[in-house]
Amino acid sequence: MNVQPEAGRAVRYACAVLADCRPASLPMDPCDLAARAGILLVPLSRVDNYPLWVPYDIFDSLRTACAVTVSYPAFCIVFRDDADPERLRFALFHELGHIFMNHYRDFPDIMDPSRPDDPALEAEADTFALNMAAPVPVVDVIRYNRPGQAKSALFGLNRTAWMRRLASIDRDRSFVDEDAANVVLYAFRDYLLGRRCPACGKTFADEEQTNRCPFCGAENPDWIL
Ligand SMILES: [Zn+2]
Ligand SMILES: [Zn+2]
Repeated sequence: MNVQPEAGRAVRYACAVLADCRPASLPMDPCDLAARAGILLVPLSRVDNYPLWVPYDIFDSLRTACAVTVSYPAFCIVFRDDADPERLRFALFHELGHIFMNHYRDFPDIMDPSRPDDPALEAEADTFALNMAAPVPVVDVIRYNRPGQAKSALFGLNRTAWMRRLASIDRDRSFVDEDAANVVLYAFRDYLLGRRCPACGKTFADEEQTNRCPFCGAENPDWIL
């Protein structure tokens, strides 16, 4: 069976997860998402503690990847302790994408770890990962309002992933309708509106866009972002 990649499905799943998990700030934390979903993340150095989980050679798989999903007896993700944090963030969102989009349930044969990766399912998981780490509406708002801040480091992505984010952003935007965009932006609202008063040092969200510190009245508080 040939699976066709469905970027739209991956983007919509990412939007739904973002609406649900109400992230407080960037960069997005895949460990937080996994914890909310009850998915265990296990560093490779601790795999010895879980002998039941080794139906295939995790160590071999992790020579090239920095995270792999073990689907039996329960879903968990094993990651390399020494992985570069930005690469690991993307890899963990990718693995979570496979789980959230039910790839293991719907395509058990294709997802069997003894088989080579399926390009379509891998592309879907990559699209999910990019849209979790750098959601289109959030990237758009930051690029429009604070263009100097719209860089890979803000989203915790490496340069390669950030280039892929920008290359696919027009396509992915076509899958985010206005309601979905508003829901995602609402989740990031306090973060996007966050200001810090240079006079009294307090932080707040300038919801009404008064451009004044609500504590001491000083004008033009700094943007936190
Ligand atoms: Zn994958
Ligand atoms: Zn103040």
